[in-house]
Amino acid sequence: MLQTMYSQDGIGLAAPQVAVNKQLLVVDGDPEDAATPPLVLINPKITRYSTEFAKGQEGCLSIPGVYLDVIRPAAIEVSFKDELGKPCKLQVDDLVARVIQHEMDHLNGVMFVDRVDNAIALNQELKKNGFAIKDVKKIK
Ligand SMILES: [Zn+2]
Repeated sequence: MLQTMYSQDGIGLAAPQVAVNKQLLVVDGDPEDAATPPLVLINPKITRYSTEFAKGQEGCLSIPGVYLDVIRPAAIEVSFKDELGKPCKLQVDDLVARVIQHEMDHLNGVMFVDRVDNAIALNQELKKNGFAIKDVKKIK
């Protein structure tokens, strides 16, 4: 999964995206920086959301070419097991919090386009890239 993520210039990948039916995701908020290794999250659970929200542009290896703004909690606390099975808990914000929430959505069958508020931008961006609005399921 790490190889797939890096080969596609991704910063996160969830197991269902590569047809693996597991609660597993990988995240690397800064692939250029070898000093910060990628995170492997097994059975991740978000245990806390910040009350502060942030808007940021997201893309997805499963919907290539589509980039849209999504509003999400700015910071989260997440519990998971690492690749060695060790229980871990992390508090993250900004990009890494966004990527983890995006990837965890995949574990629940939710795509980031389902969370886009701007319907006009969504429609335009999907059309431009050969996707259809009917494939988006509005979740809020
Ligand atoms: Zn994605």
